[in-house]
Amino acid sequence: MKYEELYEFVKKFKYVVALTGAGISVKSGIPTFRGKGGLWEKYNPEIYGTLSGLTKVFLFSPSKVVNFAFEFGETICNAKPNKIHFFLAELEKKGNLKSVITQNVDNLHQKAGNKNVIEIHGNFFRWFCKKCRKEEIFSEDEIMEFLKNLKSIKGRKNLIKKYYEFTKCECGGHLRPSIVFFGELLPEKEYRKAEEEVKKCDLILTIGTSGVVAPASTLPLIAKENGAKLIDINPGESSFKNIADFSTPSLF
Ligand code: ZN
Repeated sequence: MKYEELYEFVKKFKYVVALTGAGISVKSGIPTFRGKGGLWEKYNPEIYGTLSGLTKVFLFSPSKVVNFAFEFGETICNAKPNKIHFFLAELEKKGNLKSVITQNVDNLHQKAGNKNVIEIHGNFFRWFCKKCRKEEIFSEDEIMEFLKNLKSIKGRKNLIKKYYEFTKCECGGHLRPSIVFFGELLPEKEYRKAEEEVKKCDLILTIGTSGVVAPASTLPLIAKENGAKLIDINPGESSFKNIADFSTPSLF
């Protein structure tokens, strides 16, 4: 399917919502975690995908966590939005698309120009204090400088000390990224907003999401139950293909 065809179809609907997953950012240079060249080829997701696993490795050999964070951070900071991100930003500007619900933490929808982005798995650039919950948003340069600094520090104790210095909040607590790790609950406010949006929509676009990660995978089902149409855009396997009114592997 081409963009023009999709736009002709989409413009007939009054309240369009998109649900996006890792597949949308592959053409931006971010491999999916589980896919070819993805981080889970090198790092064990049971350790590096969980906060408890990361904390344990960090205390014993912090440089391993720093290398992992650096690789992830560099990929995300260098990524630029692709045609589908820009298409969604254009749809929002034209008034058809009301919101983008994303499972991605890469900030690419905002970089493309979307204003109403609901991030149900957090954002790599937004950190919060574990104690006072104050939020801080970092730029790509700030994140890269922080990671480069950590990479240059030698010695386990020094590295741990520096990490806690760098992430210290005014209140005495420490900042952590807002990313939702495996086993953590989704941010309640965002998820509730996402549910409200899918209940309101008359068309939902599922893009680059395999539909296996719950509870995000239930959102298109809620939309369908409320009478919405579903278009699934996914080059890989997707459980939404079965319930889609139309499905296509790509827009490129
Ligand atoms: Zn604080």
